[in-house]
Amino acid sequence: MNILTFDIEDWWVYDHYSIGKKENYLPRMNRYLDYILDSLDKRNFKATFFCLGEVADKYSDVIKLIASRGHHIGCHSFNHRFFGNLTPEEIAEDTRKALDIIENVIGEKVTAYRAPAFSITEKNKWIFGILADHGIKYDCSIFPADRSFGGFPGFYKKGPSVIKYQNSLIREFPISVTHFLRKDWVCTGGGYFRIFPYWKIKSCVRESDYVMTYFHIKDFDKDQQRRFASFQGESAIVRYFKNYYGLNRSFLKFQKFLAEFDFISVKQANDQIDWNQVPINLIGEF
Ligand SMILES: [Zn+2]
Repeated sequence: MNILTFDIEDWWVYDHYSIGKKENYLPRMNRYLDYILDSLDKRNFKATFFCLGEVADKYSDVIKLIASRGHHIGCHSFNHRFFGNLTPEEIAEDTRKALDIIENVIGEKVTAYRAPAFSITEKNKWIFGILADHGIKYDCSIFPADRSFGGFPGFYKKGPSVIKYQNSLIREFPISVTHFLRKDWVCTGGGYFRIFPYWKIKSCVRESDYVMTYFHIKDFDKDQQRRFASFQGESAIVRYFKNYYGLNRSFLKFQKFLAEFDFISVKQANDQIDWNQVPINLIGEF
């Protein structure tokens, strides 16, 4: 099972950080989205797109276009504030606001979620209670390996599982990891997809029963302006490498990936899984 997901946030990123070639970033974002949607149509694939509430608010046509092509829409928070330092009240408010806007734009209930920067960790796993209270049934926020921001290395990582928080159940689809050099690595999403050579990505996917991907437009936008600056404690050199390595060839690599493997959305994966057979993670007080 290979699941294809995208985080739709870059329209907001350009506005928010005031970076890049402002005069032409919107056409670039829209062009890459068109390329992606056309590539998916060609292979008759459906994917899940986790959308930012603020993108749905300011660029509702982007979300409407994705939904009109038959893809599954999820929520990726309102404006991408990392959850690490937020209070339960702030997270509840953010989730409610984001869901209201996205549901209003697509005219459908949204039940799938991915936290900004995979920022649900061992320390704030109570967030699952808030998500369940807001009607979330499927979550893709767990990054079960070490990570600069977020990450939940101790979480069950062999495939989907059920999270039980008090009386709520959420079906979890974690990012898939592969073990080599005595470490768990992610190679099917974000910067990792750009950095790992294609032969390695291919062998990881071939050897795995469960693959969860995540992509952004910025992973493909080779015309973006490169910035050399530190970010949240990471040095400028490390940040530059993570942000831009492999960018010139990444969209071609992605198209090759789509041509060589079959992909489904989270919604389609949910229908294929026998949920009675997956492990249950108990989280919180009982
Ligand atoms: Zn994101």
